[in-house]
Amino acid sequence: MKKLIVLFVLLIGVVVFMYSILSVSLKKDVFVFEYGKQISIDEQSLFKDSFIEPDQIELDVSSIEMEDKYPKAGEYLVEVKYQVLFFNQSKTIQVKVEDRTKPEIIQKNEIKVDVNDRDHDFSSDFDIKELSDYDISFDLEKVDFSKSGIYEATILVEDIYHNVSSSSFEIEVVETVSAVQNLSTSTEVNGILVVNKKHSLPSNYAPGENIEAKNQFVKLIADMRANGLQVSDSYSGYRSYEYQNSLYWNYVNVYGQQQADTFSARAGYSEHQTGLAFDLMQPNGALLQSYNESVWLANNAHRYGFIVRYPYGKENITGYVAEPWHIRYVGEQATAIYQSGLCLEEYLGIQGGDYN
Ligand SMILES: [Zn+2]
Repeated sequence: MKKLIVLFVLLIGVVVFMYSILSVSLKKDVFVFEYGKQISIDEQSLFKDSFIEPDQIELDVSSIEMEDKYPKAGEYLVEVKYQVLFFNQSKTIQVKVEDRTKPEIIQKNEIKVDVNDRDHDFSSDFDIKELSDYDISFDLEKVDFSKSGIYEATILVEDIYHNVSSSSFEIEVVETVSAVQNLSTSTEVNGILVVNKKHSLPSNYAPGENIEAKNQFVKLIADMRANGLQVSDSYSGYRSYEYQNSLYWNYVNVYGQQQADTFSARAGYSEHQTGLAFDLMQPNGALLQSYNESVWLANNAHRYGFIVRYPYGKENITGYVAEPWHIRYVGEQATAIYQSGLCLEEYLGIQGGDYN
C-alpha cells in the first residue's frame, strides 16, 4: 500500500513537471522596433507564467546585425534560453527592426530662380532628416519658368522603406536683365519696328531720338496750341535700355511687378527705346489725359505720322492700359492705321498681349 502511494505521488510529480514545461508560453513572439533606436526586451515580461525567474532567462541576440550604434533594419530570429526546474529550454522570437518614421523636410531658404532657368537644383534648397536612404522628387507642373511670378510646387521624399513625406513650397521666378535680353527678338513688319510685350529690342539698340519723328512732333504740339488746346513743351521721348530698366524696377518696388507691368514696360520692351515714341504732358506736368486734348490727339495725330499706340478697348491686344498721351511715329501708314480703327498689333497681324 505504501509503495502504491509513493508511486502515485511520483506520478503526480511527473505530470506536474511535464505540465509545467509544456505550459510555458511567450506572451508574444514578434517584437517590432523603430530603426535608429536601441532594442530592449524586458525578460520579465516575456512569459505568460511568471514562475520563471528573470535570472533564468537569457536572450541570444548575436543574430542582430549592428550598424554604427543601432541595429540595422531587418528581421532577426532571437533565441530565448530559460530554465524550468533545472531543465534547459529554449524558444525563438522574431525581432523586426523597421523604419516607420517619415522623412522630415526642412526648407532652408526662399527659393528664387531666373526666368527660363529650368536646371536649378531644388534639392539644394532643402534639408532632409532621414536615417535611411531616400529619393527626392519635385512636382513643378504649376511652375511657368518662362514667366516671372510666384508658383506653388511640391517636394516628395520617400525612404527605402516607403515612408513618404511631401510638402508644398513657393518658387519665385524672377525676371533679370540678362533673361529679358534672351526672351525674344525684334520684329519689323511693313517697315514698322514692332515693340510690345512679345517683341523686344536688344539692350544695345540705342538710336536716340528720331529726327524726323521729333520734327513732326514739334509741328503737332504747335498745332495743338494754335487750336487752343492745353499742352506742355515738356515731353518724354527717347529712353535708353538702361534708363527704362531703372524706371521699371522703381515701379516694381513701389507697386509690385504685376501692377507695374500694366503701365510700365520692362527694359527692352519699351517703345520709347525706338526713339519714335513720345508722351505728351499737360501744362501741370501730368501725362496728358484731359478730354479735349485726348480726343483731338486721337483724331489728328495721324496727320503728322503718329498713332495713339495704346487705345481704349485694345488693352488685351496691346498689353497696356489705355495711354491717351503716348503717340508712336509710323510715318505714311499712320492714316491707314487710324482709318482702320485697329491697334498696331491688329493692323500688322502680329502677336501682342502680355509677356510670354
Ligand atoms: Zn509712353
